[in-house]
Amino acid sequence: MLPIDEADRLQALTTGEQPPETGFEKHFMRVLSGEAMPCSAKELEWYEFWRLNQSKTPETHKPYDDLVNTMPARKVLSNGWMFLLARHSQVGLILLDKAHQDECPAGLLRAFVLARLGTTKFEREEFKKHLSSSVSDNEFVDLVTAYNEFKKKQGLPLKASPDVAHANFLLKRGLPNFGVRPREGAKVHRVSMCWNCKEELDNNVDIECNNCGWIICICGACGCGRETKKH
Ligand SMILES: [Zn+2]
Ligand SMILES: [Zn+2]
Repeated sequence: MLPIDEADRLQALTTGEQPPETGFEKHFMRVLSGEAMPCSAKELEWYEFWRLNQSKTPETHKPYDDLVNTMPARKVLSNGWMFLLARHSQVGLILLDKAHQDECPAGLLRAFVLARLGTTKFEREEFKKHLSSSVSDNEFVDLVTAYNEFKKKQGLPLKASPDVAHANFLLKRGLPNFGVRPREGAKVHRVSMCWNCKEELDNNVDIECNNCGWIICICGACGCGRETKKH
């Protein structure tokens, strides 16, 4: 067991209520995202505590993001949205859209089924058991194209807003999200091209990442996922 204050701190970090501050906390967050291994007795203790608590939470009460991380599926970003693509042993190819889960009762999820060209609700736990992540590149294109057609018919937006795209960009990479703030015009160090999507940065996007301070690209990228400098 961890001392109460440490357990509280761990909880605040993992729910994103508070950003990691010390080197230890930053490293620990990397452990949770799978980028690093626990490397001290204390860290191992924190990790074990976190892991036990995770397994105590019933699947149906876990937030959708946790589901995303444990689902046997191919994670893709498209137009700033996060989609999970998978093959279901009974209904075939499916697509899960994080942004299209509103009014879905607890314990259920809504998935787009390619063979039906529409969405169906499934019981989460049961659904997960039928999935495999073997989706080819061609099937990826078919699924996303069909889903976008479906969205168009439903009047759902095809492009995510930059703040949503940014949240998905970080989620896909397992990076913590510290939120966004309005852009501060004066002190901006501005690059003209996005390192991630190679498009020109859109001048209409007026938010920056709270963590790295970069202006957010329409694709959701900031400086956080960039692998060039080591601190
Ligand atoms: Zn971009
Ligand atoms: Zn950032």
